[in-house]
Amino acid sequence: MALIDSFGRIHDNLRISVTDRCNIRCFYCMPDEGVKFQPKGEILSFEEIERFAQVAAGLGVRKIRLTGGEPLLRRDLPVLIEKLAAIPGIADLALTTNAVLLAAQARPLYDAGLRRLNIHLDTLDRARFRQITRRDDFDAVMAGIDAALAAGFKLKINAVAVKDLIEPDVVPLARFGRERGIEIRYIEFMPLDSQGLWLGGKVLRMDDMLAMLTQEFGPLEPRPEADPRAPATEFRFADGVGRVGFVASVSKPFCLNCNRLRLTADGKIRYCLFAVEETDVKDLLRAGAPDEAIAARIAETVRRKWIGHEINSTQFVPPPRPMYSIGG
Ligand code: SAM
Ligand code: SF4
Repeated sequence: MALIDSFGRIHDNLRISVTDRCNIRCFYCMPDEGVKFQPKGEILSFEEIERFAQVAAGLGVRKIRLTGGEPLLRRDLPVLIEKLAAIPGIADLALTTNAVLLAAQARPLYDAGLRRLNIHLDTLDRARFRQITRRDDFDAVMAGIDAALAAGFKLKINAVAVKDLIEPDVVPLARFGRERGIEIRYIEFMPLDSQGLWLGGKVLRMDDMLAMLTQEFGPLEPRPEADPRAPATEFRFADGVGRVGFVASVSKPFCLNCNRLRLTADGKIRYCLFAVEETDVKDLLRAGAPDEAIAARIAETVRRKWIGHEINSTQFVPPPRPMYSIGG
């Protein structure tokens, strides 16, 4: 049985949040102080996550990405990686991290079977890093990138594109990526912050960033072989050295190609980052329910999936949970 929604979209991509906690405080995601995290007892155990992933794999899920909060805060994460990598049918396992703790964890994660990392870094400027994250961990992140490259990981860098802030970073990040063999992904600022700071006018849009890159590096070529269901629109530099991607959720929504499903750290299934409803599955996982019951709940959630978010419409209602609590 495949996970097909009422618009014919096949869901084979699962994002699992392993914690809602974080060690930094990016302003577009978390407030600086007073964040209320889920009590530990509400967070799914590795065994519960593994069980959910096994059932999802039986429904056609082929890709899993771990996220958070900051997933490297979860103790013994390589143990979970090993469990997920061993699930039949899971062809691709990846992780998104702010890399603050990566220097020490890169090798154990690689040895556990992880091969792909998306590292979140918006700027190569130490002062702007501190301004964005309200923490002084720039050197730790750079050490994390070095350690990940040395361990053999395939890396991408996620940069959140906020207008009137990130413009000076667009070209330097692309240059850094070209030099080090890392694709930079510019992610348009989305209305998922916990403080309601988002405004359409604060989004640095894909076309504007493309123009900056073109001016510096010459025309970029769309990557014809890119997966049409992937969220990023990808380009390569005309000289053949490196590539960049844009997650243009605001200026060019890609909902019609969406193949993603989410599991929050506290055991809710979400059919969209922006969904206002979610379905509990922790009750089934903790009640010893059979696989069929868990599978039915996943399938039913996918069937209810909406056509897409309405960020650009006056109808848009931000989701009740901010990014760190959903799992970005
Ligand atoms: N802590 C990890 C990290 O920062 O990569 C994983 C979780 S974080 C919520 C996942 C991704 O969400 C980050 O890489 C960041 O690029 C993105 N993100 C967070 N808040 C965002 C926002 N308001 N708009 C767009 N992207 C956002
Ligand atoms: Fe933490 Fe990631 Fe949110 Fe930044 S974007 S506050 S690193 S969860």
